[in-house]
Amino acid sequence: MKLVLATDNKNKLREIRQMLADTDISVISQREAGYEAEPEENGTTFAENAAIKAECIRQLALNQGDQIWVLSDDSGLFVDALDGAPGVYSARWAGEGASDSDLIAKLLHEMRDVPEGKRQAHFACVMCLMSPEGTKEFFEGRVEGEILFAARGANGFGYDPVFGYQGRSFAEVPAEKKNAVSHRHNALVQVADRLRQLMK
Ligand code: IMP
Repeated sequence: MKLVLATDNKNKLREIRQMLADTDISVISQREAGYEAEPEENGTTFAENAAIKAECIRQLALNQGDQIWVLSDDSGLFVDALDGAPGVYSARWAGEGASDSDLIAKLLHEMRDVPEGKRQAHFACVMCLMSPEGTKEFFEGRVEGEILFAARGANGFGYDPVFGYQGRSFAEVPAEKKNAVSHRHNALVQVADRLRQLMK
């Protein structure tokens, strides 16, 4: 089975390859497959955005006469004290083109009056597995934590420096440690199980 990832993110690609290493599934990125695409992610949920990305790749493959499976994802941060913001707008919350430090500065500012014990948050990731015929299946992963009072650590990306998990920020632990408990990992475990079932 050929599985095309609707991303060119090297970390995501490596993580997914590792998890499917014991199968006959060949995992390739959209660029490796020759499908250049950046569809507008204008859905209002992660599932809608993931489906938009997957369908775009499937159409490009169809145009070239290829029969492929597609895996796409969308993810973000939900903060309880902010009624679930930034949620589906996680990447764009501080305006178009804002950097990770702009996003973190905005989050710390919005949370400035929220006391310890009321700073619960979670990352969520929805993956869409699409068959060559366009059938969609969705898998959701989460990881629970809290928003810290200041950024800590230099690893990771996005909101990692202010996401506290078991006493440390996600940016203070090595990538392998974060990847073993992350929202993406928790979604991917389910996808890998499903793919193994499909291969039988
Ligand atoms: P995407 O699903 O990779 O496009 O991520 C959307 C946005 O959510 C990113 O730009 C980050 O701001 C945030 N985000 C998603 N996953 C993570 C994570 O594992 N760590 C930190 N931020 C994340």
